[in-house]
Amino acid sequence: MKNIVANVAGLQIGRGLPIVIQTMCNCNTNDIEAAVAQCNAMRDAGAQMIRLTTQGLREVESLKEIKRVLREQGNNTPLVADVHFSSEVAIAVAQVADKVRINPGNFATEHEKAQRDFKRFIEVCREHNTAVRIGINHGSLGKRITELYGNTAEGMKEAMVEWVQMCIAEDFYNVVLSLKASNTVVMVEAYRLLNRWMEEQGVIFPLHLGVTEAGNGDMGRIKSAAALATLLQDGIGETIRVSLTEPPVNELPVAAAIASYFQGNPKRNTSGENPQFSYSTPDWDTFIIAASCEIGPLLLDRRIDDFGIDCTCAGEKVSDEALQDFKDNLLQATRRRFTKCEYVACPGCGRTLYNLEETFNEVKRRTSHLSGYCIAVMGCIVNGPGEMADADYGYVGEGKGKVSIYRGKEAVMRSVPQEEAIDALLNLIENDKKNK
Ligand code: SF4
Repeated sequence: MKNIVANVAGLQIGRGLPIVIQTMCNCNTNDIEAAVAQCNAMRDAGAQMIRLTTQGLREVESLKEIKRVLREQGNNTPLVADVHFSSEVAIAVAQVADKVRINPGNFATEHEKAQRDFKRFIEVCREHNTAVRIGINHGSLGKRITELYGNTAEGMKEAMVEWVQMCIAEDFYNVVLSLKASNTVVMVEAYRLLNRWMEEQGVIFPLHLGVTEAGNGDMGRIKSAAALATLLQDGIGETIRVSLTEPPVNELPVAAAIASYFQGNPKRNTSGENPQFSYSTPDWDTFIIAASCEIGPLLLDRRIDDFGIDCTCAGEKVSDEALQDFKDNLLQATRRRFTKCEYVACPGCGRTLYNLEETFNEVKRRTSHLSGYCIAVMGCIVNGPGEMADADYGYVGEGKGKVSIYRGKEAVMRSVPQEEAIDALLNLIENDKKNK
């Protein structure tokens, strides 16, 4: 078996090596001062790799300057550029960043052109020792793939395989792969299919794990922990990102807790009816992450259908109400029982031009009674609509102060002023309910 180790400015990512923890800036990449401050705070909070969005050539120049300032200040954390759609931007930033994240399928609508662009791109990466992440998300599969395989885990794996085969043919191995989804079942299945394919080929590329649009608060943590733990317990996953719609530094302790969970807690083979779990933890967050890492995989893999739980946090017995809420969240995160409104929210990045966290919390507050619905709150119109996959309704940032409101995949209202957008979303849902 050939075990590929990616090298990102000296940081090694590969199977059997310690799990690398990463996060992403959510400030404007052209705001150098803000980006430098955020990168330093992330490094201090434990980030081993930091991603910034570089949507255009101006952002490539900004990234160059951010890197220069950081290195001057002694912050050597590898920087990853996030590029969508433009092969020209990807090629330009490959000469600046330590790693570039792309979805080559989106380089061009014509597949042969995307292949040619990808080849040019990896040549520049080879020349500059730049690592690559091929990142294919559930919500952004191209038409060609969905027509052949549907919007499925199988489609995600197939979309990935052709680019990996190109890397192998071009003898380019400084590559990490990711197949993210916000649906935990789809996400786990996609990575497992890809891992099986790599084993059959006899070549294991490092995998970057993540649940996209996990949201915030307890649910964001529970979804990420349950899905990531399901893969990590099987030895799948070499670098992880926990995406939260919160300040990005909040992601790092969660990611660290998930990464370290299996070091002290080998996989348990619990099964059967209603197993009981007991925890004693210093605080609530430690409890929900540990319990999600332990019980989440059992639910996702359908080895148990239900469970009992008790917990003592900092010496105090946790109330039955709080435990029931955790249990409802975990059952919903693993898609076993839906009792609440489901939310999909991106973490935001340099493309987000409104206060995403505040808006998301307000949408949650005003729609929490809508159990059975899935509502998305997305930072930008470029990737938001594709990434919100199966949401029933969506609130999508369109530009400065303007929002698009979606029903399913269709934008039913465009350029709604931000102050009116939550009301517009709620009116649409209420009218649809009446007209059902
Ligand atoms: S959907 Fe959110 S995280 Fe993704 S590019 Fe847009 S703003 Fe950034």
